[in-house]
Amino acid sequence: MLRIAEIRMTPDYTQEELAAAAARVLKAPPAALKSLRISRRSVDARHRDDVRLSLTVDVTVAGDEEAWEKRSGGRARRVSPHLYRLPEAPHKPEHRPVVVGAGPAGLFAALTLARAGMHPLVLERGRDVDSRAADVERFRRTGVLDVGSNVQFGEGGAGTFSDGKLNTGIKDPRCRFVLEELAAAGAPEEILWQAKPHVGTDRLRDTVKGLRRAIEREGGEIRFSRRVSGLLLADGRLRGLIAEGPDGREEYRCDRAVFAIGHSARDTMALLCEQGLPMEQKPFAVGVRIEHPRTLIDAGRYGKFAGHPALGAADYKLSCRPAGQRGVYTFCMCPGGTVIAAASEDGGVVVNGMSEFARDAVNSNSALLVGVGPSDYGSDHPLAGIDYQRRIEQAAFRLGGGGYRAPVQLAEDFLADRATVRLGEVEPSYRPGVTPADLRECLPPEITRPLAAALPALGRQLPGFDRPDAVLTGVESRSSSPVRLLRDAGGQSAVRGVFPCGEGAGYAGGILSAAADGVRCGEWLMVSLEEK
Ligand SMILES: Cc1cc2nc3c(=O)[nH]c(=O)nc-3n(C[C@H](O)[C@H](O)[C@H](O)COP(=O)(O)OP(=O)(O)OC[C@H]3O[C@@H](n4cnc5c(N)ncnc54)[C@H](O)[C@@H]3O)c2cc1C
Repeated sequence: MLRIAEIRMTPDYTQEELAAAAARVLKAPPAALKSLRISRRSVDARHRDDVRLSLTVDVTVAGDEEAWEKRSGGRARRVSPHLYRLPEAPHKPEHRPVVVGAGPAGLFAALTLARAGMHPLVLERGRDVDSRAADVERFRRTGVLDVGSNVQFGEGGAGTFSDGKLNTGIKDPRCRFVLEELAAAGAPEEILWQAKPHVGTDRLRDTVKGLRRAIEREGGEIRFSRRVSGLLLADGRLRGLIAEGPDGREEYRCDRAVFAIGHSARDTMALLCEQGLPMEQKPFAVGVRIEHPRTLIDAGRYGKFAGHPALGAADYKLSCRPAGQRGVYTFCMCPGGTVIAAASEDGGVVVNGMSEFARDAVNSNSALLVGVGPSDYGSDHPLAGIDYQRRIEQAAFRLGGGGYRAPVQLAEDFLADRATVRLGEVEPSYRPGVTPADLRECLPPEITRPLAAALPALGRQLPGFDRPDAVLTGVESRSSSPVRLLRDAGGQSAVRGVFPCGEGAGYAGGILSAAADGVRCGEWLMVSLEEK
């Protein structure tokens, strides 16, 4: 198979035109191509009025591939699929390993262990994805929050309203394995070749159920409504776990457990701290969600191609560092999506974003964030970053007027340092509702100053980004974890047998990197079986 990268096509290209373009690279007649498959597709919108698709194709050709490779002058390369293979377990442990948390990190740690015949047990505090979806639907209608309902990805505590963008900056062969497993579990096949793979909240639920079935088929087990509430330790080693289940306290004998608890399990993080797990403060980022009409963003990015079915809703990634200020950047952009509630504690308002596979909602939004760190947290306690978050989230709850209403401010009012009293054309999508306000009443100056300085500059990067009635919704405070659970080169905490994992442990940011870290922790756990 030969791979030909960066074939630039107009959004209206036909299969024949693509085949002809590939043949031209090989200096071959189109008839020489036996097969052609797109292995990567990205949108090149650097020139707004000449938006192109950049395609990488895998072709098979009649005759000697090496000769064709030479004829292409190096543009075509022979490729052999690089398959990531899961390691095998040296032997079975006395007690089956436990995975705490069924987000992407936990699910992929469990899948890795199940594939190796280890019969892992997953303990998840939340309920299965369908009952969660019902909770969140009720919350969006009524504002009545079942704390912990709002989750991210995965099963039980997750999987309900994440956007399912599968971008990551890490280069790890496990990522390809994760994408293939997600596609096999029901995610849209195009995640295997899109440069920016996207599942969509609506398709994620079934994908997560598909992953659960894969783990169960391989001998794993997932128990929902099990909140791990204690570690049984002896001589610095894990001997078991205590969990609160539907019928009360349960005890599980185990000497190896992957802790993939996510960045919102504040009670569990406090418990681990009390039980002596070494941890440290970690920088993260805080800000707001900014919302614009989808058509404005599409036009700003794609010019006359805006709305073209081959392009879909446009995304953007902006950043700048105003003079004398901290850097500001956009994050987790949701084209044709909505701003959603992501609170996990009573009396706190937290926002995030999601979009369905179709990405056809009226607005587009993204997080607009500023980096914060230990010097902002006000104490050197390992969990001080969580207190910092909580203060901001509770101030936002008060500013929203309760009922999980979120405070909003128009860009023009934020720049003019005055409270918003009435909204403009952009209809905020956050549910259960919003309250016009002044976000400086819930966000500290180390965040509001850089945001105000950056908005006009970002408006120059993307026309209309700083339009006067763009809506800022507060607060986006869970971009990643403010804590890191320390682990050694073998993935273990100093409390032996505990494998800190994923975003909550401070080793991932986003679905794909969390899942890849889950696979890595599964591998480390198996290797640790060799330990005496
Ligand atoms: C609304 C929203 C949209 C997002 N969209 C995207 C996106 O499009 N793309 C992207 O890459 N990232 C997105 N993210 C972030 C992404 O979801 C996280 O990065 C990812 O889920 C982290 O995975 P994790 O497995 O480490 O933790 P989590 O997914 O948080 O999973 C942790 C699990 O542990 C469980 N748990 C916690 N404590 C206990 C306990 N004591 N006992 C038992 N179980 C416990 C929780 O209930 C939860 O299910 C989004 C997040 C939100 C909130």
